[in-house]
Amino acid sequence: MKPASHHLATCTGCRARICWALTTANGRRQPIDAEPTADGNLAVMQGPDGLLYVRSLTKDHPAPRAGEWQAMPHHATCSSPPPRRSSRTAQRSTTGARPASWRTA
Ligand SMILES: [Zn+2]
Repeated sequence: MKPASHHLATCTGCRARICWALTTANGRRQPIDAEPTADGNLAVMQGPDGLLYVRSLTKDHPAPRAGEWQAMPHHATCSSPPPRRSSRTAQRSTTGARPASWRTA
């Protein structure tokens, strides 16, 4: 399996061919090398919605399943990573109490 051509993108740092995939763990976008490699520690698959999904291969499950292929995360191979953006929003807390003031009726 290989990524479909419409998934192909170009790294803005090193101009390599990459794909954007969503991590199955938390739905974050992650750049992966477009070219599958047997050394990759990621398993990539195209979901029924047409998006690419990526999960980490673990020691317990080192082999990709049917329909998946192995790839490297691009940040592991990028020769010219873009500068880190410092404006990244801090982790949102979805369970914390709202900072609204206490009201007494
Ligand atoms: Zn790159």
